[in-house]
Amino acid sequence: MSEAKTSSKSARVDWHALSDEDTLKKLSADLSGLNDSEAQKRLEEHGPNRLPPPAKRSALVRFFSHFHNLLIYVLLAAALITAALGHWLDCWVILAVVVINAFIGFVQEGKAEKALDSIRAMLSLQAYVERDGKRREISAEDLVPGDIVLLQAGDKVPADLRLLRVKDLRVDEAILTGESEQVSKNTDAVAEDAAVGDRFCMAYSGTVVTYGRATGVVVATGAHTEIGRISEMLSTVEAITTPLLRQMDTFARWLTGAILLLAALTFAFGFFFRDYSTSELFLAAVALMVAAIPEGLPAIITITLAIGVQRMAKRNAIIRRLPAVETLGAVTVICSDKTGTLTRNEMTVQAIASAADLFEVEGTGYDPHGAVNRKGQNVELDEEPLLGDLVRAGLLCNDSSLNQRDGQWQVQGDPTEGALLTLGNKVGLDLKTEQDQHPRTDVIPFESEHRFMATLHHDHEGQAVIYLKGAPERVLEMCDRQRRGEVDEDLDVDFWHRKGEELAGRGQRLLALACKKARQGQNELNFKDVEEGLTLLGLVGIIDPPRPEAVAAIKECRSAGIRVKMITGDHARTALAIGADMGIGDGEHAVRGKQIEEASEEQLRKWVREVDIFARSSPEHKLRLVKALRQEGEVTAMTGDGVNDAPALKGADVGVAMGVKGTEVSKEAAEMVLADDNFASIVHAVEEGRTVYDNIRKAITFILPTNGAQAFVLLAAIAFGQALVITPVQILWVNMITAVTLALALAFEPPEADIMERSPRPTREEILTPFLGWRIFNVSLILLVGTFGMFLYEVNRGAEIELARTVAVNTLVMFEVFYLFNCRYLHRSVLSGEGLLGNRYVLLAIGAVFVLQALFTYAPPMQVLFSTAPMDAATWLRAIAVAFSVFVLVELEKVVYNRLRRSD
Ligand code: ADP
Ligand code: MG
Repeated sequence: MSEAKTSSKSARVDWHALSDEDTLKKLSADLSGLNDSEAQKRLEEHGPNRLPPPAKRSALVRFFSHFHNLLIYVLLAAALITAALGHWLDCWVILAVVVINAFIGFVQEGKAEKALDSIRAMLSLQAYVERDGKRREISAEDLVPGDIVLLQAGDKVPADLRLLRVKDLRVDEAILTGESEQVSKNTDAVAEDAAVGDRFCMAYSGTVVTYGRATGVVVATGAHTEIGRISEMLSTVEAITTPLLRQMDTFARWLTGAILLLAALTFAFGFFFRDYSTSELFLAAVALMVAAIPEGLPAIITITLAIGVQRMAKRNAIIRRLPAVETLGAVTVICSDKTGTLTRNEMTVQAIASAADLFEVEGTGYDPHGAVNRKGQNVELDEEPLLGDLVRAGLLCNDSSLNQRDGQWQVQGDPTEGALLTLGNKVGLDLKTEQDQHPRTDVIPFESEHRFMATLHHDHEGQAVIYLKGAPERVLEMCDRQRRGEVDEDLDVDFWHRKGEELAGRGQRLLALACKKARQGQNELNFKDVEEGLTLLGLVGIIDPPRPEAVAAIKECRSAGIRVKMITGDHARTALAIGADMGIGDGEHAVRGKQIEEASEEQLRKWVREVDIFARSSPEHKLRLVKALRQEGEVTAMTGDGVNDAPALKGADVGVAMGVKGTEVSKEAAEMVLADDNFASIVHAVEEGRTVYDNIRKAITFILPTNGAQAFVLLAAIAFGQALVITPVQILWVNMITAVTLALALAFEPPEADIMERSPRPTREEILTPFLGWRIFNVSLILLVGTFGMFLYEVNRGAEIELARTVAVNTLVMFEVFYLFNCRYLHRSVLSGEGLLGNRYVLLAIGAVFVLQALFTYAPPMQVLFSTAPMDAATWLRAIAVAFSVFVLVELEKVVYNRLRRSD
C-alpha cells in the first residue's frame, strides 16, 4: 500500500459539513453496508484501521539504558580501580560483565515486553457493522471508509464516523478535546469551520460512548482519523514496573550505600591493623562491592512476573496492568456480578404468573420444545388470550435473536430476552410474523440504572402500542391497571408482590411485562410516556443455572480465606436463593441497592463485614461498596461489564472486566479481563498471583545468601590476614552465571499444593519477612563456614592459591545447588518425590551449572580468564559432601520451625 495514494484518496473532506445523503454518496455507501468483496478491496486500498505503533525507543537507547543503574556504576568504579592498579584482566572481565549484564537485561526486557504485547493483542477492539445487510461483529482493524457502524453505550468509537441515526447519543471526547463534559450528538451538518468539539454529527475514533445508540458511516480510518493526526501525543510507552520492583529498587540503593561503607571500613581496617598492600586492599574492596550486590535479581523478578502473566492468560485471565499480578495474590474479597459470571447466563422461562393463573413451562435452555401447563394440564394459546398478549409483549420488546448452530440453539444478544423468544416458540407464536404485524418505531433500551426496556409499535391500522418489560418493582410503579383474561381492572399491588416473592424464592429471576396504548400519531418514545398508565400483563420467572466450576471456585475461596460477595441487579429473594445454592451468604441476609444509597458510612462498613449478598443494586452502589471495603482494609477484586461500572472497577484494588459481554470502557478501566467471563477464572488468577509472589520470594531467599556468604568470606579473610578467597571476576561469575541460572528455575515453580489453603498475605507485609531474613542470615553463615573452611584446608595442604580459590568457588556453587532444593518450598519439607523432582527446570538448571563449572575449572581459556586450576575427584567429593550440609540443616530448621508454630 502506498502512503501517497491513501493520503491523496482521503484528501481532507469536511464530512461534518456534508448532509448524510451527500456523505453516503461520496463514500459510495448505503445503510445496508458494504459487501464483502468491496470491503476487501477498500481494505487493500486504505490499509488496516490502526494507528502506527507508538515510536519505541531505539534498540541502542534501550541497550544503553541498562547502564543507567546504580549497581552498574559501582561496577564501573570497580573497573576503574582495577585499571588504576594495573590489574588489566580484572578490569576487562568486569567491563565484560557490565556489557553482558546490559545485554541480558536488554534481551530479557525485550522478552517480557513481547509477552505482554502478545497478551495485549488478545484484547483487540471489536466493532459492530452492517455488511451485506447483516449485522456482524468484526475486528476494528478491518473497518474501511464506507462501513456502516453501530454504536452503543460503552463502546469505544472504532473509527471516525459521520452519524446517520442517533438515539440519545452522548460521547466523552476528552481524549480529543480535553473537555470532560459529555457531548450530545445529532445528525445535522455543521459549518465547515466548526471546531472538533462542535461537530455534533461526528463520532471520532477513540472517544467513548457513554449513553444511547447510533449508526454512522466510517469516513476515516487508521492514521487519517482525528486521533491519528495527533497520535504522537499519545505514544507513551508504559514502563514495566510494579510496587515490588520499586521495593527492590529501594533495597538495592540501600544495599549499595551499605556496601560502599563496608568497603571503606574494610579498607581502613586492613590498612591500619593488617599489613596488606594498598593494591591488595583496593582489590579486596572491589571484590566486596561486587560480592554483595545481587546483580541478577531484578531480571529474575521481571521474568517471574512475565511468566505469571502468561500462565494467567492460559487460564483465561488477561492482565492489563502488571502490578495487578502482585495485588491478586493478596486479594481478600471478591465481589462478583451474578448473571453470566456466577451463573451460566442460559436463561429459561419456568413460570408465568397472570392475575388469575400460574403457568409452568417445561424444557431447558433455548430449545423451543416444551409445553406450558396449568395445574399439570397442557394449555393452548387460543383458550388463553392473556397468555398470548403476555408472550407477544416479550417477543416485541426484545432486541435479541435465536439461531441454531450445529443443532444447538443459541442467543444473539441478551440471554434474558432470548428466554422470551424461546417462550414464544414454545407457545407457537412466530417472531417474524409478530414483528411484521407490529413494526417498531422507537425504543428505550435496557440499562441497569432504570431496569426496564420499552418499545413503541404501530400496526397496519395505525394503532400504536407501547410494550414494556423490566424488574417488577419498577414496572409496578408505572402500572395502574392489570389484565385478567380480556378485561383490565385495578392493579392489586400486594398480590403481585406476593407472587414475585414466591417465584424469586425458587431462585427465579423476575421480569414483569406491561403494555399501554400510545397516543395517536406518536412516533417517539420517551421516559415520560411510560411513567404511568400502563397495564400489567403478568410476571415471568426465569432460571439461570449456576456454573458448576464457579461453585467449586467459591469453595476454594473459602479455604483460601477469601470472601465472595454477590452483587446483582436481581430481586433479593432470587439472589438469596441462588447464593444459598452456590455457597454465598447465609441464606437470610441481603442488602438492597436502595438501602446502600441511604446508608451511612458506618452502616455500610458494618454491612460489608457481615453481608455477602447485595441485590437490586446498580453500578454506583458498587462504587460505594468498594470504598467501604477499602476502609475496612480489604483488598478487593470487583467485576463489572457496563460503562457505569468503570468507576467501581477503577476504585477496586483489582478491577475485573468481562471479555465477552463487557464494554470497551469497562475493559479499559480494569486491571484484568476475563476471556470467558467466568468467576472461576478470577480464582485461578488469584492462585497464580499467589504463586508469582511465592516464587519471587523463593528466588530472593535463594539468591541473597550467596551474596551474604561472599561478603562474609571476604571480611573473614581480611580479619584473619588471609589472601583474597575469591577474586572479583570469580564473584561475578558466581553471581551472574550460576546464581541466575539456578534462580531462574524457581520462576517456573508450580503452585504449591496448599497455596489455596493459606490465608491471604497481609498487604503491609514486606517481601522479606523476619523469618526469611533469619533464614538468609543462617544460610550465609553455613556457606561462609563451608567455603572458607575448604579454602583454608587447601591452603594448609600447601595447594597453590589458584587451586584453593577454585575449590572455594566450586564449594560455593555446590552449596547453591543443594540450597536450590531447599528453596522450592520455603516452609514445607522438600523430602518427597514431588519436592525433589517436581520441577524439571530445577534439574535442568543444575545440569547446566555442572557443565558450566566443569568448563570453569578445566577449559584452558576459562582457566586464564578466571585464574582457575583443575581439581581432582577427591576434592570434588569433599566439596559436594560439605555442600550437602546446607540441605540437611535447612530441612532440619523447617522441622523445628513447623513444630514451634504448631505448638503456638
Ligand atoms: P444482573 O446482571 O445482576 O442480573 P441486571 O441489572 O442485568 O442484573 O438486571 C436487573 C433486573 O432488570 C433483572 O432482574 C430483570 O428484572 C431486569 N432485566 C434484566 N434484563 C432485562 C432486559 N433486557 N429488559 C428488561 N428488563 C431486564
Ligand atoms: Mg445483566
